[in-house]
Formats: sequence, structure tokens, C-alpha cells
Amino acid sequence: MKTQECISLEDQFGAHNYHPLDVVIESASGVWVTDVDGHRYMDFLAAYSAVNQGHCHPKIYAAFVEQAKKVTLTSRAFRNDQLSLLYKKLHDKTGYDISLPMNSGAEAVETAIKAARKWGYKIKGIPSNKAEIICAANNFHGRTTTIVGFSTEEQYKDGFGPFDGGFRVVEFGNIDALRKAITPNTAAFLVEPIQGEAGIVIPPKGYLSEAAKICKENNVLLIVDEIQSGLGRSGKMFAFEYDNIRPDAVIIGKALSGGFYPISAVLSRKEVLGVFKPGDHGSTFGGNPLAAAVAIAALNVLIEEKLIERSFELGNYLLEKLRSLKHSRITEIRGRGLWIGLVLNTDARPYCEALMKEGILCKETHVNVIRFAPPLVITKEEIDWAFERIEKVFRQFEGK
Ligand SMILES: *Cc1c(COP(=O)(O)O)cnc(C)c1O
Repeated sequence: MKTQECISLEDQFGAHNYHPLDVVIESASGVWVTDVDGHRYMDFLAAYSAVNQGHCHPKIYAAFVEQAKKVTLTSRAFRNDQLSLLYKKLHDKTGYDISLPMNSGAEAVETAIKAARKWGYKIKGIPSNKAEIICAANNFHGRTTTIVGFSTEEQYKDGFGPFDGGFRVVEFGNIDALRKAITPNTAAFLVEPIQGEAGIVIPPKGYLSEAAKICKENNVLLIVDEIQSGLGRSGKMFAFEYDNIRPDAVIIGKALSGGFYPISAVLSRKEVLGVFKPGDHGSTFGGNPLAAAVAIAALNVLIEEKLIERSFELGNYLLEKLRSLKHSRITEIRGRGLWIGLVLNTDARPYCEALMKEGILCKETHVNVIRFAPPLVITKEEIDWAFERIEKVFRQFEGK
């Protein structure tokens, strides 16, 4: 009954900007979570890929506690001894020249937008206030007013205007549309290599490499949002690696802390992030020592425990198993790594609720897609356990 108490308090005293499943989690470890009534579930969402390293990973936890005992926040008015180490780690593990840390994903996207515009004016020579950024239809880049302004999802924008402009939306996966949208005032093309919130939508083969080529020819920055697709989720460190490209800037967040603490970052070349001068941009908590220590540990876990390779292998294993499900409601199964969208020709919510009853937590995205994205520490045996239950749920819905 504790569950109902929590839910009624939430209903009474919280804003209702979410519609969560009615499970109230009290503790978690690895791929497993336990609710306030003692029920155990396997987490098949991983906090939208923020806990790729698994819940409460002991090594990240140790770094978190150690740092919390020493110093947590200095503000950037002073320096701290962890940020320098994070900068170096990000450079060493990604090859990008420099980075800029923020807190949430949306803030890092805002940072990339500001960098692209300023780069457009200072380096490319776009006339003042004319810079344009091209983005893709059905994008998801966060919830700030600027970002929802170029969303194509009506609900994300409804009631939040006016929006300032400076963005142009083209069809995702359509290379001609991108080519036609570029003008001398285009500063950047901002895109998710795989659209997560849109339902794990993978663009046609060659799209990103063509886009990279066109951007280069036109002196337009290619900025990829890897906040959800990155850091192992797609079976590579970055999803753009499938296309053998090197974007001008990469935005990361979510799993950068393994779920312990909000931290995000923009990675790029000196020429791009170098446009920021002291006072141009900042954040009180951005680059704080607690976040930096946690991010270093989270990156180490990802690499040392070979979670990226694991995502690739077990992702293929799960995908194959799911493809063996023959069901009239399933129209498509797509994915990369442990990031799989099961597309139905009906509402996905009842399936997610039925999966919850069987002990698997996942969430519908875009009404009719079930997203399977467990923490990358999941084992083959745990996948087998989950698949038995997924099969059972689909059998329940046979003929419905
Ligand atoms: C989650 C997400 C964001 C926003 O991150 P927040 O931390 O929620 O602000 C941006 N882009 C993509 C692709 C995301 O998945």
C-alpha cells in the first residue's frame, strides 16, 4: 500500500508533467530495481540510457563518496582539481581537442547552439543575427524554450511560444532536403545519429556520411547529439562511428555520470569551442568537482568493463531473439546495440503495463513503440529471463 501513498502525495503536491508507470522505486543495483512494496523488476529503460553502467555502480559510488567528503562545488570563479582530469579524460577517450561541461543535456545542446552561432559570426563571417541552424524533423534535443521552438512535436511547443527563429527543419534521413536547406547563413546542422525519442529511428545507410560531406563542402558545422545514443548505448562509443565520420562537435550527457549526478558536455575542436571568451557562457554547477569525479569514474567503468562491446554483442543477441517473436501487432523491430525499438500497430502502453506485471520495466515512446534499453551490464542469462517474459506478454495479447 506504500505505493498508493507515494502516488497520492505526488498527485497532490507535484506538477503533473509526467505520466509514469505506477511503480515507486526505493532501491536498485545493476539491472534490478526494488519498489517500496518489495517487488523486484528488471529495468529495461535504464533512465533513458543514463544508467548504462547499471544502477549504483560500486566504482562510481566510491568516487562519488570520496569526492563528496573533499569538496563538491567551487564554482568556476575558482579552479578545482577534478575538472582538469575530466578534460584530459574526455580528450583521451574521444580524440576531441577540448570540451565544455554543463549539467543537463538540454544545457549542453544550448551550449552547442551558442557555439555554432558565435562560430558562424566570428569565423565563418555570417552577418549579425542571421545565423541559421538546420535540424531534423521528429528531433528530440531537450525542453528549453529555444529547443522546443524547433521541435516538430506539437505538444512540446503548445503554450510555450513565442519562438525566436533561427532554425530550419528538414526531413530526417533525406539528404536532398539537407542540401537544399543550406544557405550562406547556415552555421550548423544539428542531428541525432539515431533518433531515440522518435522511436529509435535509424537513418538510411550513408545518410550521415553524406551529411558530413555536404556540411564540409559548405563550411557548415555537423553537430551530433549523442546524449542518448552515445557512451555505448548503440554498441559503439558513439553512434556516428557506424558511418565512419568525425562530426565537428558531439554533445553528451545522461550516461556520462552513470546516473549519479547530472553532467553533460560539448566536445569539439579548438576553433569551435574556442569562440567562448571568459564571461560569454557558464553555469554555477557546470564543471563542479563532484560531477567531474563521477564522470571520470563513469567513463572508466564503461571502458574497463567493456560495456560498449557488451552492448554490441548482447544487443545483437536480444535483437535476434525479438525477431523470432511472430505477432500480428509487431510491424518492425529495429535497433543498434542494446537499444531496440519494437514497433506495434497499436498503443504500446498496455504492453508496457503487462510487462511491468511480469517484472520488466520499460516505457512506450511515441505511442506505438516499446523501447528496450537495459543497463549495459545485463548478462545473457538476464536477457533470456527477460525474453521469456516478453514472449509471455505477447502471447497474452495474441488476437487482441
Ligand atoms: C535526453 C536527451 C536530451 C535532453 O537531456 P536532458 O538531460 O533531459 O536535458 C537531449 N537530446 C537527446 C537525444 C536526449 O535523449
